[in-house]
Amino acid sequence: MNSPQLFDNHHRPINYLRLAVTDRCNLRCFYCMPEEGIKYLPKKELLTFEEIERLIVLVASMGISKVRLTGGEPFVRNDLMQLINRIAHVDGINDIHLTTNGLLTSPYIPELKSLGIASVNLSLDTLDRERFRVITRRDEFIKTWETFELLMKHGIPVKINTVVMDKKNIDDIIPLIELTRSYPVSIRFIEEMPFNGEGNHYSHLHWHYMRILRKIQEKFPNIQKLADPPHSTSYNYHIPGHAGNVGIIAAYSRTFCGSCNRIRLTPQGMLNTCLYDGGILNLKDLMRKGLNDEEIAAHLLYALNHRAKDGFEAEQLRKEKGPVHESMATIGG
Ligand code: SAM
Ligand code: SF4
Repeated sequence: MNSPQLFDNHHRPINYLRLAVTDRCNLRCFYCMPEEGIKYLPKKELLTFEEIERLIVLVASMGISKVRLTGGEPFVRNDLMQLINRIAHVDGINDIHLTTNGLLTSPYIPELKSLGIASVNLSLDTLDRERFRVITRRDEFIKTWETFELLMKHGIPVKINTVVMDKKNIDDIIPLIELTRSYPVSIRFIEEMPFNGEGNHYSHLHWHYMRILRKIQEKFPNIQKLADPPHSTSYNYHIPGHAGNVGIIAAYSRTFCGSCNRIRLTPQGMLNTCLYDGGILNLKDLMRKGLNDEEIAAHLLYALNHRAKDGFEAEQLRKEKGPVHESMATIGG
């Protein structure tokens, strides 16, 4: 049987769901969350595992084949492995990925491996313990590093996500790339976006993706451009002789919208068809009102048929909800 295919109104195939399982986190990264005063969602507002599973079965029947668990910090949600197990058994879901800060991850790595997790994105903005403490507002570098080493040991494909922050971790760009010399890891430098939960320290983008590339080229003039896989959000590079690769993600410049294949589900069950749209369909409400799968599928199709063409249009359309300031942890980075 052919797998179903889902398209949006701009003829883009949609096959990838990013699922934020919680808005809670055990770090307070400067670019993602304010230090204090965060109001977490009450438990009853979160999708239950049963609701998540129901939605995944539904979207898998419509054409979604890849799921990424993210958050907040996914492992802060109790029994996360039970949820991953359920998702791994959904017909049609071929790839499960995970984005984590690594603090609570290491005990679960063998089980992740045996469940066939396709890859783990580990967030790491610096290799310096003190800078890690300043950026994340917690002194936990050692745990993230241990998780990195254990993932490598288990042969799980790893991408390191590094948000490039002016005056905070620019000196880390080269040391992080040095990791690719011996580790088969992909280091991806991400333009900082305004999703910091407070909106008051983001004036403009300081490190545009071209500026990041120039900085890398100064040190590695022989860096080579790789062909980017379909739907890739990163521009990919390789330094001859290195085991790993380097990526640059123009998350703020939004150069990749034309091939965007993803939708997002927030912890409270809101569908985002774009990171910048502020949420467009409350799937939790539909389920809790008693709609059947067919009715929910019709709402999903309507949302996909009215999808903004890019992140700029989505941001424009959300203007009545106010400017972008929510935390990345509530949207699912
Ligand atoms: N807690 C997990 C983690 O940090 O990996 C998963 C959730 S986090 C929101 C997902 C990704 O979003 C992380 O790699 C993080 O670096 C990125 N992120 C968060 N806020 C961002 C921002 N303002 N701009 C760019 N990337 C951001
Ligand atoms: Fe937590 Fe991830 Fe946000 Fe950092 S980026 S505060 S680890 S959710």
